[in-house]
Amino acid sequence: MSGNILIVDSVSTNRIVLKVKLSAAFYTVSQAGSLDEALDLADTRRPDLVLAAALPDASFPEVLSRLRAVPGMDMVPVVALLDQNDPATRAQRLREGAADVIGKPLSEAVLLARLRSLLRHAPRADDLGLQPAVARALGFAETPAAFAAPGRIAVMGGDAAGTQRAFLSRLARQGRHQVTTASVSRAHGLATLPQTPHVVLLVIGEAEDDPGLDLLAELRSAPATRQARIIAMIDRADAPRAAHLLDIGAHDVIGADTSADEIELRLAAQLRQQQAQAALRNQLQTGLEAAMTDPLTGLYNRRYALSQLNRMIEALPVRGGGFAVIAADLDHFKSVNDSYGHAAGDLVLTRVAGLLQSALRPGDVLARMGGEEFLILLPDCSRAAARHMAAQICRVVRETPLSLPGASAPLHVTISLGVTLAETRPGAPVPSLDGLLGQADRALYGSKSDGRDTVTFAHRPAA
Ligand code: GH3
Ligand code: MG
Ligand code: MG
Repeated sequence: MSGNILIVDSVSTNRIVLKVKLSAAFYTVSQAGSLDEALDLADTRRPDLVLAAALPDASFPEVLSRLRAVPGMDMVPVVALLDQNDPATRAQRLREGAADVIGKPLSEAVLLARLRSLLRHAPRADDLGLQPAVARALGFAETPAAFAAPGRIAVMGGDAAGTQRAFLSRLARQGRHQVTTASVSRAHGLATLPQTPHVVLLVIGEAEDDPGLDLLAELRSAPATRQARIIAMIDRADAPRAAHLLDIGAHDVIGADTSADEIELRLAAQLRQQQAQAALRNQLQTGLEAAMTDPLTGLYNRRYALSQLNRMIEALPVRGGGFAVIAADLDHFKSVNDSYGHAAGDLVLTRVAGLLQSALRPGDVLARMGGEEFLILLPDCSRAAARHMAAQICRVVRETPLSLPGASAPLHVTISLGVTLAETRPGAPVPSLDGLLGQADRALYGSKSDGRDTVTFAHRPAA
């Protein structure tokens, strides 16, 4: 796995030992012996991961917070390096915000597996297929919360409840998270869960065929739990099996002797990561919605309408049948603005959008193309059905009085429509997007010159 790793340690032999191991695993490594050097390299090299010891001139929390403040570094995992491996300091580092803690003696295989796992699972906008510039344009705030919001934790595996009684009762006392326990049977691992967990603590026994192994694979692949983070608990965290579990999808591996304190901190860290990833996904969803929506009316915008129209054209030779394209434009809308003001005009646009939407079938596409112009696409639609629908739209707009705040009487508006049909005929060319839009527009102008509030069909089939 490739990646850019920054080592921060004032002891040069420590740095060199790590650098040799990491370089041999094909990472690009840079090293800093002081805080200033670390900040400089973070800025110029943009590491994907940092391994940092406390420094003579800066405590670990200080190193962490200064690194986080470097632009682009707020989500990069920072792993704490410890000289020893005492449980209290381990827990302390996790509490201070380390993504993981690595103490001595370290197993090289497990170290590398942990780094691979951290690099693979760090929540990043580009994991969602976004280029950094696009992610910024969509307003991604890459700042994970410092504390995990309450979440659902499932403890699963062999004697799940028995193994970790102390830690479970402590979590239960806190009452922050919803904790469930489930034993694993090969037949129904996931089925035993009442609700999809955010984090699973999976106890895996020493046997080669412990059912926890199957469950790990199942959790990682089932759609319901694919977004959950998994901490595997095995007998010894430095056993070769730890590296294997990390490589097959566990997000963290701990030993059975891990203190309740540390388990709790690691659960919170995974929960935080899970929540950061979920927030990114939501932001992506919102950003995508915004990119295809007209902000005033909530209808689809021009870009979306044209891409849908393109897809319908492409599907035409394959699916057969036909669809209708309707260009619609409010009549004398300028006079609404002139008489009642622009804000009232906006309200009329929103109301008319609602009327159009209510007249359409569920699969139809309605978009605001700009100003007081709309585009309607009616998939799988005959000429007669299009005629019926267009006439109904005209009537609904004409017959629905619109009450405006401050206006003494309700307002009546009308709309003009131009309709064209896209059909497959043997030997005929597939219609083009511009051809269809031009036909619908010309038909619309026909309605305008015929006195408005009416429907006109395009004369010739669109080419
Ligand atoms: P016609 O029947 O020929 O279509 O006449 P019209 O007045 O509807 O057409 P025209 O193109 O002359 O004027 C369109 C008006 O729509 C002018 C513009 O101020 C108004 N308009 C365009 N976009 C908006 C908007 O977002 N909000 C409001 N309130 N008015 C808008
Ligand atoms: Mg108009
Ligand atoms: Mg217009």
